[in-house]
Amino acid sequence: MARELSDILKELSKKIPKNSYNPVALPKELLEEQTKKNENDCPICGGVGWLRLDVPVDHPNFGKLWPCKCYSKRKEELLRKELEELSNMSHLRQKTFDNFDPSVHPSAATAFEATKQYAENPHGWIMLCGPCGSGKTHLAAAIVNYSISVRQSNSLFMIVPDLLDYLRETFNPKSDITYDERFLMIREVPLLVLDDLGTENATSWAREKLYQLINHRYNSEMPTVITTNQPPEAIDDRIRSRLSDTRLVMHIVLDAPDYRYQQGKHSPTRKSQRKVYAWP
Ligand SMILES: [Zn+2]
Repeated sequence: MARELSDILKELSKKIPKNSYNPVALPKELLEEQTKKNENDCPICGGVGWLRLDVPVDHPNFGKLWPCKCYSKRKEELLRKELEELSNMSHLRQKTFDNFDPSVHPSAATAFEATKQYAENPHGWIMLCGPCGSGKTHLAAAIVNYSISVRQSNSLFMIVPDLLDYLRETFNPKSDITYDERFLMIREVPLLVLDDLGTENATSWAREKLYQLINHRYNSEMPTVITTNQPPEAIDDRIRSRLSDTRLVMHIVLDAPDYRYQQGKHSPTRKSQRKVYAWP
């Protein structure tokens, strides 16, 4: 019985097209969903993205799939597209340095100058602390918009609770991109904004992920912008200790009156909710 099976496999492997690249292309008929040819198809794998190794049937790698050279390129493109979609900040798109009014408050003027400089040449971390409506999210969004449109650098703006939801969702087995790839994409993005840190109602899993993300970017000193309206005590101890490192993190406290109220788009935040906490 076993021998018959190996004969069948040998016969099958003879039918698989070979080429100069060591791994051979998979037979098209085995990959129905990807048979649609177009002229951009890779000459090595025919656009399938995967190859199987040209080894005898008794070889341990027989039948194993290997990603083609074109595969990682395609993955990169997928991830870049995903990054763009994720960074689709909708209403935050219009928030730029040009439409921020630094004259509302001296702290807004200081924050404006610092974030503008940072956007031009992002190094280290910036932490924008201040109550709702003080303009910190506007400035954080302006940094990302500047980075994307002027510096043309991959940048990601994420509201922390949304980020954690997103990571949880990526455990979907039908997804084209795995959880690890997504996590890596966010971890390695050249500029990351984490908006509203401390408001997340995180499970221990999510807390751990957030810590891993922040800790990695801290250790690699990757440009990161964090906004919060929370006092230091409200932040996870391990994250707080990284955020308190003044060698890497520039702390900017915004104490401006409710910026959105000024623009007539928002009801004023009650005084009691507008406490300003000192960081670090
Ligand atoms: Zn290929």
